[in-house]
Amino acid sequence: MSAISDHGSPSTADSATPPAQFRILVIEDNADMREFLQRILKRRGYGYLGAVDGAEGVALALAERPDLILMDLALPVLDGYEATRLLKANPACAATPIVAVTAHARAVDQERALESGCDAYISKPYSIRQLFELIEQFLPPAT
Ligand code: MN
Repeated sequence: MSAISDHGSPSTADSATPPAQFRILVIEDNADMREFLQRILKRRGYGYLGAVDGAEGVALALAERPDLILMDLALPVLDGYEATRLLKANPACAATPIVAVTAHARAVDQERALESGCDAYISKPYSIRQLFELIEQFLPPAT
């Protein structure tokens, strides 16, 4: 599994840093987007987990139990709608907030995301401030 995780390993160089209180799983196939989100989430004090497709995202969510999931909808292997359905059908993750990232502000995509079980959506392009306002509807601000 090529998932990126910087969480929890006490033997890493930054072991002096306390583990982040809340961890966010980013399921996103675009490497630049993952890198960008990783940077801004960590700067904000959140732990970051990354997955590159829907199947890897589901597996990582079940294994790691993140506090929130940022779900791209257009994903290889398993798209974001199907990944959301699987996670919301699994008691281990059913209560985990899932925020869909829609490519366009298309009402049909937004409706479909909510029907699949996403708790909220944000449309690209979004500002960092919009993203954190949305995340903080589900998680207390990171400290
Ligand atoms: Mn995508």
